[in-house]
Amino acid sequence: MNETVEHTWVEADAPDAAKAAKIERETHKLEKRLCRQVGQAISDFNMIEAGDRIMVCMSGGKDSYGMLDILMKMKARAPVDFTLVAVNLDQKQPGFPAEVLPNYLQALGVEFHIETQDTYSIVKDKIPEGKTMCSLCSRLRRGILYRVARELGCNKLALGHHRDDMLQTFFLNMFFGGKLKGMPPKLVSDNGEFMVIRPLAYVAETDLQRWAAHRQFPIIPCTLCGSQENLQRQVVGNMLREWQKKHPGRIENMFAALQNVVPSHLMDASLHDFKNLQITGIADEAGDKAFDEEEFNEASLPGIQVISMN
Ligand code: SF4
Repeated sequence: MNETVEHTWVEADAPDAAKAAKIERETHKLEKRLCRQVGQAISDFNMIEAGDRIMVCMSGGKDSYGMLDILMKMKARAPVDFTLVAVNLDQKQPGFPAEVLPNYLQALGVEFHIETQDTYSIVKDKIPEGKTMCSLCSRLRRGILYRVARELGCNKLALGHHRDDMLQTFFLNMFFGGKLKGMPPKLVSDNGEFMVIRPLAYVAETDLQRWAAHRQFPIIPCTLCGSQENLQRQVVGNMLREWQKKHPGRIENMFAALQNVVPSHLMDASLHDFKNLQITGIADEAGDKAFDEEEFNEASLPGIQVISMN
């Protein structure tokens, strides 16, 4: 009888153990990938330099938690010395769990600051019912965060936008702004005072979702204000996910395109001097091939692995 019981235990246990080992392996791979991609972005765009004091903007969403987590890992092994200050702006939205972030950051042992400013009431007061509050809300938030960064002596602001946010912004600008313009990995703030960096520039949103689940971040919902955050962004996000489902590798290809711009084959005369273009008499592979069709080979992009689902 005992033997039967023991046998049952072993059988039931074996797949669980294998599953747990697999999850551990996958998690380890995910952590390595996140660190590699963040390290690569930091190096490619020279995001962090010795002596930087970086304000890590924490919204309480999975992306900002992931960003802080990975930046702390990078800091521990970075070749240069820099400081991180996690900052959250409590905008007094109804139901905002004000204790969640301070408790988390305290336990993490990172320097942090919580700024409390009731922008919610201001926005509610100024914007008529039913109209979107995001533009005023984010303008107020930006002003406050710049002031806080100044007071904390920070020279850089790290934002948790990832690869998919950047692609979405690119399409939103094209669809609604008539511009080939994305979300930069690094740019000086509009007031000229700070360097804004996006260390998650190379990171896929799905990886951040997995990391957040693994690390069990205490996520604060982003719908507390009751405003529909950028419906168009959601539509474009769905469009990109659908494309990726039907054509695996498409997101990677589009993202690679953002880093591989050919102004001579676009139509912005300020980037390429079409007016004064002269015949050179020298053969050039990048020249116009006249009637020849362009050849497309998705799998030929460096670093991109296309998996066929057929
Ligand atoms: S979704 Fe809410 S919190 Fe976010 S920018 Fe819009 S109004 Fe502000």
